[in-house]
Amino acid sequence: MAVDKSSLPSTEEEWRVRLSPEEFRVLREAGTERPWTGEYVDTKTPGLYHCRACGAELFSSATKFDSHCGWPSFDEAIPGAIRYLEDRSHGMLRTEVRCATCDSHLGHRFDGEGFTPKNARYCINSVSMTLEPTDRV
Ligand SMILES: [Zn+2]
Repeated sequence: MAVDKSSLPSTEEEWRVRLSPEEFRVLREAGTERPWTGEYVDTKTPGLYHCRACGAELFSSATKFDSHCGWPSFDEAIPGAIRYLEDRSHGMLRTEVRCATCDSHLGHRFDGEGFTPKNARYCINSVSMTLEPTDRV
């Protein structure tokens, strides 16, 4: 699904109106939902996970796996959907994952943990995504 970028908010105040307080805190202020509280932690429903801010497709349920870390985890993103940033907050070097379309914060990517053959874990906040149930995955 292509997102019309011209319809997206251009200021944080516009985002604040469009999103719930918790969505705004995570998506636009790089917050993190508490582990095991997100609605998609254990979800197995086939479908596509969209950015809750702009609607762009981010992840397929086919790449979701149980990492037992308390957040939805994927080992691969939809090509071109993600923008990566270096995150040195909290005394760690991590890879921040943002939506390439609207630049909203989604979570972090971790490599080399060996959970799956792809050896990557996208640790994503449930509140950053909306699941569209579909067999087209
Ligand atoms: Zn987005």
